[in-house]
Amino acid sequence: MANQSHSAGVNTPSNDREWRCSSCAKLLGVCRDGQMHLRFARGHEYLVGFPVVATCRGCGSLNTLTNPALR
Ligand SMILES: [Zn+2]
Repeated sequence: MANQSHSAGVNTPSNDREWRCSSCAKLLGVCRDGQMHLRFARGHEYLVGFPVVATCRGCGSLNTLTNPALR
């Protein structure tokens, strides 16, 4: 039984950026340190450079991200 208070979203690392599907907003990957971190089922993970092209596994839309630093 954990009795400690949860810090919900207080110290969110600003280094990570979520990349979401442009059609259904499903999370496709997380951009960190100039690379895109893609996670798939069964623990498959990929670190790829830009530009990134990925097919949404939710709606099948093709998403392209060319700019790694959208500040
Ligand atoms: Zn989608």
